[in-house]
Amino acid sequence: MTTQKTSLPRQRAFLVDVERCIGCFTCAMACKNYYHQETGVVWRQLYPLDEAIYPHRERAFFSLACNHCENPACLNACPVKAYEKREDGVVVHHQDRCIGCGNCIRSCPYGAPRYNPVLKKAEKCSLCHERLDAGKQPACVQSCPVRALRLVDIAALSTTDAANAVQYPAGYPEMPQVNPSTRFIMPRTPRVVRR
Ligand code: SF4
Ligand code: SF4
Repeated sequence: MTTQKTSLPRQRAFLVDVERCIGCFTCAMACKNYYHQETGVVWRQLYPLDEAIYPHRERAFFSLACNHCENPACLNACPVKAYEKREDGVVVHHQDRCIGCGNCIRSCPYGAPRYNPVLKKAEKCSLCHERLDAGKQPACVQSCPVRALRLVDIAALSTTDAANAVQYPAGYPEMPQVNPSTRFIMPRTPRVVRR
């Protein structure tokens, strides 16, 4: 498993601790509630790990949203500059500028931007940038009952996180051209206790 470093001075990102996640969907629901998302629109989703990747699938999940990539395909594909990459690395979609052409949705290799059929515009996880600017945590991070989601700066990871975090775990597509910022801590295989 390779890890591509960031060349940016700051890159805020999600650290997904798969060892801790219990698959309760609270993070996805917190996002949906906070942004009053339309029926069928989801910015964060839970994916159970395939049995071939992790044999105890009932307790192993990837909680995924936008990866706030270093070189965002969405931003590069947008004809009206509706996307912005902030100095802290967060990729923001300005919906007021969006014309709903779908270029970002088609270009994102992770399927993060979604089409809102009511507004007829794209939308995606903003890493709750307004909450960050007010000194708060993203809604998903704050809601997780087991601290399986954390907000980190991958340009300044702690020694422990740097040693444990992986960028491309099995089952997660490797896309060095965009350099996704999400990092994962993978679950340990449970010990078999014999009596
Ligand atoms: S995951 Fe997709 S939508 Fe998010 S920044 Fe990367 S290319 Fe853009
Ligand atoms: S809230 Fe936390 S434990 Fe629950 S599914 Fe999300 S990341 Fe996993």
